[in-house]
Amino acid sequence: MARIVMKFGGTSMAGTERIRRVANIVRRQQAAGHEVAVVVSAMAGETDRLINFCREANAIYDPAEYDVVVASGEQVTSGLLALTLQSLGCKARSWLGWQMPMKTVEGHSKARVETIDAPEMIASLERGEIAVIPGFQGVSGEGRIATLGRGGSDTSAVAVAAAIGADRCDIYTDVDGVYTTDPRIVAKARKQKAVTYEEMLELASVGAKVLQTRSVGLAMKEGVRVQVLSSFIDDDSTPADEFPGTLIVSEEEMEQILKDSDMERQHVTGIAHDKNEAKIILTRVPDKPGAVAHIFAPLAAASINVDMIIQNVGRDKGETDVTFTVPQADLARAQALLEDKRSEIGFNRIITDDHIAKISVVGVGMKSHAGVASTMFSALADRGINIQAITTSEIKVSVIIDEDETELAVRVLHTAYGLDASDEPVA
Ligand code: ADP
Ligand code: ASP
Ligand code: MG
Repeated sequence: MARIVMKFGGTSMAGTERIRRVANIVRRQQAAGHEVAVVVSAMAGETDRLINFCREANAIYDPAEYDVVVASGEQVTSGLLALTLQSLGCKARSWLGWQMPMKTVEGHSKARVETIDAPEMIASLERGEIAVIPGFQGVSGEGRIATLGRGGSDTSAVAVAAAIGADRCDIYTDVDGVYTTDPRIVAKARKQKAVTYEEMLELASVGAKVLQTRSVGLAMKEGVRVQVLSSFIDDDSTPADEFPGTLIVSEEEMEQILKDSDMERQHVTGIAHDKNEAKIILTRVPDKPGAVAHIFAPLAAASINVDMIIQNVGRDKGETDVTFTVPQADLARAQALLEDKRSEIGFNRIITDDHIAKISVVGVGMKSHAGVASTMFSALADRGINIQAITTSEIKVSVIIDEDETELAVRVLHTAYGLDASDEPVA
């Protein structure tokens, strides 16, 4: 017998029929003798709909009230799933964020899970009851509902798994695993048997939305065993493989998997894209100590995350241009803050562009292999795709390009790194 957390995303929960399908998958796990806690998302599109209501109600909305509104989507699906499980003869009940409770810190709309006090819920699991938990929500230090940021139900699931000492956290979604890139963009993308925590963390943070970044960080820290798999499976089929999806594993486990299957590590594990960033250029900034600090201090104080930064080589008159990227959602705020500090910073013009995309290639294999970046640059150049900015880390290279060229760039790179499905299989 194992204790399992099963998480179902928005597409899997969209409507009565799909919830019934989910209930059947959950019931089968319980029938196999396992203790089961289920974490659910709101129905697909529901969170966007609720956010729009907030915007219509008040353009500059209070994040605490925003949380009250958007958390309702998950409350609905958790109740509906509990009802459906009961209709199938299972014992099931919902556990809202404040009932467990799942305590959060760091305010509203992107709160972080701090603790989950689960003894009551564990006792309920041990009595054979299925716990149904709305994802995305917890309770703040002030006792108010708090949400965990977009895609946060993944993090709820991993946090619950850690708190109840689950043997596994299965993330059921609308694709059957983690692919070499978004399978909706590249038809030849390949499903991976396993990906390391480190790679998944990097892939998620540069835009592969299959798992929320925080959920991967938490799983890595707490040693939670995560599998990504599809909820769109034949109702009565028993998968041939014990783990039909993609496992997120430690580096050591990965080495073992590669050894067992006699495979070599690919230099590049995956390619991700992100259309949610915007570029800011400040022209003719004084080229002297402290200038850059003047630009980024106010942005940091306003919790605006700056991603890429490029400072051009100084011009003749002791001036330089500084280019950087921020989340698109923060562009207007960043621009206003910088305008405010114009005389302090001493720039000439502020130029913004939200029509950009970040394309990233990720792979632990890069650590020991040179040439990954240059392959990227030549593959893009061959198709006439212009690179506007570059950053690298030990296991990642990212470039900024024109947003219209996103899909083309992802496809070209997928082929350039030999990841297309017709090529040799990867682990
Ligand atoms: P859910 O609603 O189940 O949380 P999401 O929409 O958040 O699902 O995440 C699943 C989606 O992630 C897929 O439909 C796919 O388009 C996208 N995706 C992006 N990159 C990848 C990747 N490398 N592998 C698999 N899916 C990916
Ligand atoms: N419903 C929330 C969202 O759409 C959380 C989630 O689905 O993970 O962002
Ligand atoms: Mg998601």
